[in-house]
Amino acid sequence: MIGPREIHLTPRAQSLFDESDTNGFYFAVWSRDAFMFKTSTNAPAGIATPEKTGAESGTHVRVRDHFREAYHYTEIGESVLVGRDITADIQELHGFAGWLVAAGAGILALGLGGGWRLATRVIRPVEEIGATASRISAGNLSERIDLADTENELGRLAVVLNSTFARLDAAFAQQKQFTADASHELRTPLAVLISEAQSTLARDRSPAEYRETIEACLDAAQQMRRLTESLLELARIDANSAHIRREPVDLSAIAQRCVAKLRPLAELQGVSIQADLQPAALSGNADSLAQVMTNLLSNAIYYNRPGGQIRISTAQDSGAAILTVSDTGKGIEPADLPHIFERFYRADKSRSRADGHCGLGLAITKAIVDAHGGNIAAESKPGAGSEFTIHIPAKPAPTV
Ligand code: ADP
Repeated sequence: MIGPREIHLTPRAQSLFDESDTNGFYFAVWSRDAFMFKTSTNAPAGIATPEKTGAESGTHVRVRDHFREAYHYTEIGESVLVGRDITADIQELHGFAGWLVAAGAGILALGLGGGWRLATRVIRPVEEIGATASRISAGNLSERIDLADTENELGRLAVVLNSTFARLDAAFAQQKQFTADASHELRTPLAVLISEAQSTLARDRSPAEYRETIEACLDAAQQMRRLTESLLELARIDANSAHIRREPVDLSAIAQRCVAKLRPLAELQGVSIQADLQPAALSGNADSLAQVMTNLLSNAIYYNRPGGQIRISTAQDSGAAILTVSDTGKGIEPADLPHIFERFYRADKSRSRADGHCGLGLAITKAIVDAHGGNIAAESKPGAGSEFTIHIPAKPAPTV
């Protein structure tokens, strides 16, 4: 018979409830009527049986001051409590929390510092690009962005912008040169016109002298007309190069008409023209292509020698129409050859200007060929003659 104040424990349980060897834990055991049977020597003062709030069973956990306790009610109402002083754990946790806050603050500071450094690294070149771009104007295209760092995307953007500025710079310089050349070319016949008129009007002249003056003025006026027509032609091609009016044409038919038109002039110069005209169909502008042939044939006549020959041929080859004009004239020096398609370039300045050759014929020719998506090449042997070859695709390239 087990009395109310007695408890029977197996030897193993007895060893578990050894009040002196608790491994840092304390315990207490109460009977059904809250009599404390047994308690470990390290149990804190004031240890009391957990208050029952109902028919508890099983194990519960509670924290009381700095003690963490687990207690258990047996089926017949006895209770067992095991607890531990967690002051050291709490201190350790506080220490860990402090360390966490410090580490968090450090990481935040590092992130802010890194972010600021990154932002300044990204923003500084952008600001520099913006400042340089705003310094650049039509009058000051020589500025360039400093390419200290070309490894990243901004560096590559700066390279692209610099090359765009360089192209703009070159285009503006070319435009300036062109305007200066055009004014110069116009000023020469204008000066002739004015000085002829002034000197003739200075005193009375004979009808023959007046006639001479009027003829000189007419020459100067015609030179100016040729020049302005060429300038207008160039401006027109420049403006419409992307949208030339095209129709199905045959180069051989156009060449035939041009040869017929220029043969009298060639004969006048003692130059013969041989034509080998094979069908060469393409989609192009007949008037512009006629101008190309007229320019090439006029030069072949003008720069030829008396008794010289001109050969003009047309042919079709792998999707392109081909035109060749060759002559037995004075030829072009190797130093001049790369420049002959430039505007106002003349190899023999004095001679060609006197005859009204203003150095725009080949520039116009090239502009027309370019507008057709083709290419023009020149070969020459000084003293032997020159050959101009044009390739134009039969069909225009598809626009993207
Ligand atoms: P230009 O009106 O002076 O003839 P072009 O633009 O037609 O101008 O030609 C440019 C220059 O190329 C000429 O000044 C001339 O020196 C040279 N040239 C062009 N065609 C020939 C040719 N068939 N033979 C020799 N030189 C030529």
